[in-house]
Amino acid sequence: MAKMFVAGELRDSKSGEVTEIRNPATGEVVDTVPKGNADDVRDAVAAADEALKVWSRTAPAKRGELMQEAVRLIRENEKELSTTLTKEQGKPIRESILEIRRFAHTLEHYAGMAKTLRGGYVNLDDGRYGFILKKPMGVVGAIVPWNFPVSLMGNKIGPALLAGNTMVIKPAGTTPLTASRCVELIHQAGLAKGVINIITGPGGVVGEEILQNSKIRKIGFTGETGTGKHVMEVASKEVKRVTLELGGSDPMIVCDDADLDRAVSAASVGRFFNCGQACLAVKRLYLFEKIADTFMERLTEKVNKLRIGNGLKRETLLGPLHTKGQREEVEEMVEEAVKRGAKVLTGRNRPKGPEYDQGYFLQPTLLADVDPDARIVVEECFGPALPILRVKDLDHAIAQANRSVFGLGSSVWTRDIDKAMKAAERIDAGYTWVNSAQIIYDELPFGGVKQSGLGKEHGNEAIDYYTEAKSVVVATEKTSEVVGGE
Ligand code: NAD
Repeated sequence: MAKMFVAGELRDSKSGEVTEIRNPATGEVVDTVPKGNADDVRDAVAAADEALKVWSRTAPAKRGELMQEAVRLIRENEKELSTTLTKEQGKPIRESILEIRRFAHTLEHYAGMAKTLRGGYVNLDDGRYGFILKKPMGVVGAIVPWNFPVSLMGNKIGPALLAGNTMVIKPAGTTPLTASRCVELIHQAGLAKGVINIITGPGGVVGEEILQNSKIRKIGFTGETGTGKHVMEVASKEVKRVTLELGGSDPMIVCDDADLDRAVSAASVGRFFNCGQACLAVKRLYLFEKIADTFMERLTEKVNKLRIGNGLKRETLLGPLHTKGQREEVEEMVEEAVKRGAKVLTGRNRPKGPEYDQGYFLQPTLLADVDPDARIVVEECFGPALPILRVKDLDHAIAQANRSVFGLGSSVWTRDIDKAMKAAERIDAGYTWVNSAQIIYDELPFGGVKQSGLGKEHGNEAIDYYTEAKSVVVATEKTSEVVGGE
């Protein structure tokens, strides 16, 4: 049985209750985890608060060194971690390996920033000195979804620990296993007990206590926009800081001068990676009329080659959806679009056969000429189905792209630099890729606009979201005159 990790030790829940974690490809029980409650969270917060005294005063270079050792341990255990991740989440093993590597890379990126963490200095007047200290916020709560349970946790651990905060983490209810093991390994790198803690259990209980606990000063949240709004509302009661990484519906625009081969490949990977269950994913495809038919033909051919199956099989490219409900929601969106006149290019059905019967599999689905008001265009479709729409020109495409409450990622494909820059400037999103698949870089800030979120993860910017800038003025004897305040 898996355990929670609190105050430097593996623990059961005080309730003694456990939850079964099942493999979405087979329905089999992978393991059980403690069903944590509010008391367990309070213990973890107390341990994190105690650990803050030491960790916040540890030199950043030393923190970086310990994080580097954690990276080594994560890499050493890549095989075990990626196998568990595939079993609990469903994703193909090659994608699990990529996720563990990304997690290690993110921690390494922030560990590498340890020696360059700086505040500021301003010369105010003769004999008066201004300093800007970058102070840790305190105990930080991290709430993580099930689609990338490890790498999205890393986006919070990297900047939070480097900046001197301590942490209480809550993984999603259905994907606690790999995350808990990673936290244990990070602790084993030599961190003091209580610096990093993880509590498994339901969002409405464990997550809610993290939101409400007054000792927690900041919440790093990734999840649905609806839950994010709730996080913001509860956090507002004590003016807690929040970073919200929420839903998205990324448009991909393909102009008639684009490199079609590369664009077809980016559309396929961009929509079907992680079985379409990604925040950053191609969720609406806008094709210039001139190339639309050719593009759809080539994309259909490519998508039909995606091998569906249990993620543990090396050859699998498309695993199951993560839950029964998730599959049903995608199916409902597909059917609604078809009712509104969309043409099915491929997919729509569940694959048949003994290999698929116990899992939440769905064929990769392409829908052409979809009504712009269909749910699959307007809402976030979190699964392997892609709506395709024709556009007259770039202005039409940008207007359609911006017709969304979301603003996370976006991409444009053209060989014309003027078109590319126009799209990059005008699409309302936190990221625009030009002639590139949607790849996240630790070097660049990432975060949505509109209802896709608030604040940034990745980049140097993430550190700003885990520190408070404090001004200090030092006056020497030279400056004894009194001046007015604000
Ligand atoms: P979710 O909002 O249902 O759950 C996210 C986390 O919040 C889970 O750990 C859950 O247990 C917890 N939670 C639920 N209720 C809570 C409450 N009352 N208080 C505190 N915590 C609570 O999201 P999900 O279904 O797990 O994830 C999918 C969503 O996440 C999609 O909308 C996707 O686009 C989004 N997402 C965004 C990003 C990004 O970086 N912008 C990345 C990945 C996923």
